Amino acid sequence: MSEKNIPAKKRIKDLNSLEKVYFPEILKALKLTLKTMFRPKFTMQYPEEKFIPTGSYRGRPILVMENNGEERCVACGLCARVCPPLAIEVQAAETEKEKERYPVRFEINMLRCIFCGFCEEVCPEEAIVMSKDYELAFTKREDAIYGKDKLLVPVNQLPDKIGFLRNYR
Ligand code: SF4
Ligand code: SF4
Repeated sequence: MSEKNIPAKKRIKDLNSLEKVYFPEILKALKLTLKTMFRPKFTMQYPEEKFIPTGSYRGRPILVMENNGEERCVACGLCARVCPPLAIEVQAAETEKEKERYPVRFEINMLRCIFCGFCEEVCPEEAIVMSKDYELAFTKREDAIYGKDKLLVPVNQLPDKIGFLRNYR
């Protein structure tokens, strides 16, 4: 069908003179604004007011360290394998204990991480978990590569997360 033959759509209703100046609509909008002003607020004044997440929250991934300073990670590499944007790099080394390994190098590129939590789900040792930390800012790309110095967190600082994993995973 050519453009000429397409029938023009009929207007259902013409605007009256009040509607043409949009006055009633402006009043309606003002009424809604006034009503909303007195409703309870959900907005937080960040960073003065901090959001405190629950144990199920997926902040930046961290490595769990036992209270005696031992790393839980056995450098199996499953987390690196499952990570969709290939953000994790693990290099394994042998320990003095029989049949034990540890990550001599463990890095997460926080510019790549998409906070999916797959690493946490797949880890057989509960060694990598999603923390409550959501405050990430970098001025240089190199600063976004988190090594073991930034990743290792003592287990006694993670009671909510460990409790959540034990109860709901
Ligand atoms: S949260 Fe997802 S993207 Fe981030 S390191 Fe873990 S598996 Fe990779
Ligand atoms: S964090 Fe867990 S999954 Fe990743 S290498 Fe260590 S033990 Fe394996």
